[in-house]
Amino acid sequence: MALETLAPETRNLIDGKLVPASNGNTFENVNPATEEVIGTVADGTKDDMLAGVAAARRAFDESDWSTDAAFRAKCIQQLYEGMLAEKEQLRAIVVAEAGASVSLTGFMHVDNPIEMMKYWADLAASYEYETRMSDIEFTGAMHGRILRREAVGVVGAITPWNVPLYLNIAKIGPALAAGCTIVLKPAPDTPWSATHLGKIIAERTDIPPGVINIVASADHLTGEILSSDPRIDLVTFTGSTATGRRIMECAAPTLKKVFLELGGKSANILLDDADIAKIVPSGAMTCVHGGQGCAITTRMLLPRSRYDEGVALLKTAFESWNYGDPTEPQNLQGPQVSKRQQERVLEYIEKGKQEGAKLLVGGGKPDRKGWFVEPTLFVDVDPKSTIAQEEIFGPVLCVIPFDDDDDAVRIANDSMYGLSGAVHSASLDRALSVARRVRTGTISVNGHMWFHADTPFGGYKQSGVGRENGVMGFEEYLETKIIAVPPQG
Ligand code: NAD
Repeated sequence: MALETLAPETRNLIDGKLVPASNGNTFENVNPATEEVIGTVADGTKDDMLAGVAAARRAFDESDWSTDAAFRAKCIQQLYEGMLAEKEQLRAIVVAEAGASVSLTGFMHVDNPIEMMKYWADLAASYEYETRMSDIEFTGAMHGRILRREAVGVVGAITPWNVPLYLNIAKIGPALAAGCTIVLKPAPDTPWSATHLGKIIAERTDIPPGVINIVASADHLTGEILSSDPRIDLVTFTGSTATGRRIMECAAPTLKKVFLELGGKSANILLDDADIAKIVPSGAMTCVHGGQGCAITTRMLLPRSRYDEGVALLKTAFESWNYGDPTEPQNLQGPQVSKRQQERVLEYIEKGKQEGAKLLVGGGKPDRKGWFVEPTLFVDVDPKSTIAQEEIFGPVLCVIPFDDDDDAVRIANDSMYGLSGAVHSASLDRALSVARRVRTGTISVNGHMWFHADTPFGGYKQSGVGRENGVMGFEEYLETKIIAVPPQG
């Protein structure tokens, strides 16, 4: 597929201006499918991050951004239209810097996320920020109450590299809609998916200076300013559970609100009456985007009575799975995002073999340029083993047998994570009964989709704190105020 020529914005957005790093430094952006340097980006310093925080604080405290919902809705609509106008450039960026398969850019990386910005524009305008509660009688007198929702304040947003444009939009959209001001720090592996949004904001919207600041930096720790600075009211983070813990620690001294979207190890459960021949081959979808998706189901639970049948189908599906150049539409799996990630996945595969799981397909890296890992199928996996418990973030499926529905639920829940999952059965009631017992934030029954702009998404247990998307996701960015007033008539 012919992609637009890359023309990304490479400067940060601070206080309404597109600027180089304060010390003039840049860092390289590398295409993970080719290992080629595709350009550079401003290497934001701690001073740049502090300038972004100061600008966001001033914009929140001194402008009417937080109180003028109609103006916000207009600006977010402009941002939506700006992204539509630059959609093909955004697509080229995501394919080049994240190794995203071009076929996945519609649903996962570009088109669908852009549409989500429209949802935030509409919600900013339609949300009822103030409602009247019923009057109450208390200590012999009547009292009235107004329930008011107000922007939390300045938001520090930190995002990972796996679905970078979507995840940036998922932070910026609701925070802007709620009336917050923002400092966004993207992952160093995928900086342009953020800096190019900065260009669209600066050039195509009336969003006032300081309302949104975007600071790319090669140094992960530049982001710690966002979790520790007392001028930040809420830190919203998507990334690994380990970094999520660190963010919570850094946020503790100032007791800022912490909103975390973290890792997963989700189970795909096929009950013994499920249409195994039809459903099992889709287990190869674990390899989509190199398995670099937090909500991908990476454990497949097969009933012992139909285990051999299921494993044979999976073997065929994995052996015929297309992967490679992400610009070729037939490849739903491109590279891992970096050499570091490729090595990490290969280390997990070694660990799986050492711990006794049976490697049925793949397990290595192909002899070609780019940080690819072969689609990898492990069967007979011990549910307590490392590869069944830890998030690999690679194209690796772990197949685990179970005895009955209770056993399937027990294995699915034997995890520190609880982000997503799936269950399949010929009986909707039976599938629903299992779905209700799995401790997870989202679960698909018989292949139905749980993802949408209006649908809350997030994790149980160590998969996160809070919910993204939908009205619930929007309200994460709002404070609640009760105003006591005289009763009505
Ligand atoms: P990561 O935790 O290594 O990094 C994420 C971001 O945090 C990056 O911008 C990084 O620079 C920054 N960072 C790192 N250390 C920091 C610190 N001490 N203080 C502040 N910021 C810091 O994660 P990753 O490897 O980039 O992304 C993969 C992870 O993201 C996986 O675990 C995946 O499951 C998770 N993820 C979760 C969701 C979700 O919605 N639950 C969505 C996508 C990805």
